[in-house]
Amino acid sequence: MGGRDTELVLLDENGIRCDGRKVDEPRRIMIKAGGLKNADGSAYIEFGDNKILVGVFGPRDVHPKHMSNTDTGILRVRYHMEPFSVTERKNPAPSRREIEISKVIKEALEPAIMLDKFPRTAVDVYIEVLQADGGTRCAALSAASVALADAGIPMRDMVAACAAGKAADTIILDVNNEEDQAGQADMPIGYMPSTDKITLLQLDGVLTPEEFKKCVETGIKGCKIVYELQKKALTEKYFANGDSK
Ligand code: ADP
Repeated sequence: MGGRDTELVLLDENGIRCDGRKVDEPRRIMIKAGGLKNADGSAYIEFGDNKILVGVFGPRDVHPKHMSNTDTGILRVRYHMEPFSVTERKNPAPSRREIEISKVIKEALEPAIMLDKFPRTAVDVYIEVLQADGGTRCAALSAASVALADAGIPMRDMVAACAAGKAADTIILDVNNEEDQAGQADMPIGYMPSTDKITLLQLDGVLTPEEFKKCVETGIKGCKIVYELQKKALTEKYFANGDSK
């Protein structure tokens, strides 16, 4: 944050961003449902240069047993970045950042999952970031929703996620790594379109109340784009050519 990089032009005179996008244009997004045969459900997402694989296991017995809840199922999420996912090798030990992101993704998914339908059990979501380029929590949350649906977990809706932010005094959709580092604000949003509910909202940076409102509206537009691609991924797996492998 704070515009430390003076060489980088975040927004040129034609309103084009450092990676060639317009202010309201997301990066290229590709989502695939399934792919891991040993998981109950899985998904793979490419969100710009982010590449993330998610495996879902459960509902299954809880170990250790004392962590189970007789009234409801529990959701456990592990977000993990591969050491090779960033340019400088990342220490493989869980970082504070990975612990935080695991927690926020878990809390963003919980309102979507009907955990009360499977008491005493756990659903485990394993997120592997293979390549990171800013916005991994949103990409991971979006892929996790597809993987949960692929596992047949009862859900109210899928959570679609996308960040909005501010760079060069302008509200932008889908903040990339350079914009995150050199820009003025980054706001990841997780959103359930059918119920119009926000389940993740974080803000790194400073915004005026007007900018905050515009940022939320812009982020939700991005979530709706992601949501269509989540549904497309599931449709392609379960309905294309009658093939349901
Ligand atoms: P998010 O990935 O959700 O945007 P952050 O804002 O914390 O989360 O991280 C922004 C980006 O910074 C990441 O997507 C990644 O590209 C980069 N990054 C995160 N951790 C590291 C690290 N340990 N080493 C190098 N780059 C990192």
